[in-house]
Amino acid sequence: ETVDTDLIIVGAGGAGMTAAITARQEGLEVVLVEKMPMVGGNTLKATGGMNAAETSVQKKLGIEDSVETFVEDTMKGGYEKNNRELVTVMAEKSGEAIDWLDSIGAPLPEVSFSGGATNKRIHRPEGGAGVGAYLVNAFKENVDQLGIPVYLDTKATELIVENGAVTGVKAEGKDKLYTFRGKAVILATGGFGANEEIYAKYRPDLKGYVTTNTPGATGDGIVMAETAGANLVDIDQIQTHPTVEQSTSIMITESVRGGGAILVNKSGKRFTNEMQTRDVVSKAIVDQEDSYSYIIFDQNLRDNLSAIEKYVENNIVVQADTIEGLAEQIQVDPAVLSQTLEDWNTAVANKKDGEFNRETGMDADLTKAPYYAIKVAPGVHHTMGGVEINTSAQVINTEGKVIPGLFAAGEVTGGVHGGNRIGGNAVADIVVFGRIAGNSAVEYCK
Ligand code: ADP
Repeated sequence: ETVDTDLIIVGAGGAGMTAAITARQEGLEVVLVEKMPMVGGNTLKATGGMNAAETSVQKKLGIEDSVETFVEDTMKGGYEKNNRELVTVMAEKSGEAIDWLDSIGAPLPEVSFSGGATNKRIHRPEGGAGVGAYLVNAFKENVDQLGIPVYLDTKATELIVENGAVTGVKAEGKDKLYTFRGKAVILATGGFGANEEIYAKYRPDLKGYVTTNTPGATGDGIVMAETAGANLVDIDQIQTHPTVEQSTSIMITESVRGGGAILVNKSGKRFTNEMQTRDVVSKAIVDQEDSYSYIIFDQNLRDNLSAIEKYVENNIVVQADTIEGLAEQIQVDPAVLSQTLEDWNTAVANKKDGEFNRETGMDADLTKAPYYAIKVAPGVHHTMGGVEINTSAQVINTEGKVIPGLFAAGEVTGGVHGGNRIGGNAVADIVVFGRIAGNSAVEYCK
């Protein structure tokens, strides 16, 4: 079957749906092509929130922050490997992206601290709900309202290139083949964190790691773009998430540590500043005996963070009325764990963590029974590298030139996160660059 339209968007995760809504709002005919039976991709799993600076929400809450600090935190978090131009655009346009989300019925009115950020910058839905599912819901409603066709169970296999310009996509539906023809294509296929073959190829040390990713994150867009001549950047830069429950691959959101939880090793002792960047905390856990850790929190924290209920429902949380009881269940020395908690609560009271210099996520101590523990270790989480784009989300070829008609946004691209993505920047990336890709495609198709 042949489908004629203006713009074909491959991948209906956060970046793809943002681009689709943006382009459709500007009057383009758009189709979304999604290989899974549902929309959402890895975006569905985002739990932290969206980083944005100098936003109307921060101003309303009296939070001081600046675009410049956002840029510097992101560069520092990424070991300065990031493409500074892309980072600057992301930070500069983050405030208007928050307002745009508000305008489509997806406000993010709460702001808090997150690892690697100097100021309170991570924007979240009301009540601490998971940002990913919340945004995907809102995006899907807008996509439906705007009448954008979504081809589910339809896997893009090849870009159509005519006279050097990308004009369409070939795809395999459930029981038929499609040729989507238009004027431009946006790749929003996400990363390759669920494709062990690819990640172990670029990073042999990650062979055998579990993944936090949805099964659709297999890097198809990167392969298709490469075939069309695209340049790849930072492709071996792969982030592990430090706190993944290994039997279920459920990732324990950073907000648990941000809310005051600590990490202890097999001996019941803390071993790191839990609020450091993901790569540092991951390595610290791997360096412990048997390479795992327990994340420890209390009832107060559970009461304040609805995300925890999902962990309880999935039976990955150990619970006890006393710290000693908890220690017995997780087989660590009760006296050691009690001392660890006592020292930590003193640090919180004095606002000084003499042992590991933790400075954030210390607003509440751990003193309210029952006490909880989840056993965690790192898993593959985010692939920072991917297709090279410029600040207009145009894809760049191996000679440094724009590939006409081809745009990309989100995890399929490389450059924004450099050597390490800080929490809250994946959502910032997909919303800001999803909008840019949509607008650039509108310009291009005129
Ligand atoms: P991002 O965060 O960049 O938006 P996501 O992982 O949320 O990335 O979304 C990417 C989407 O692209 C997923 O829903 C995934 O199933 C889809 N996808 C990946 N490869 C293909 C493909 N070959 N054809 C169609 N959709 C694809």
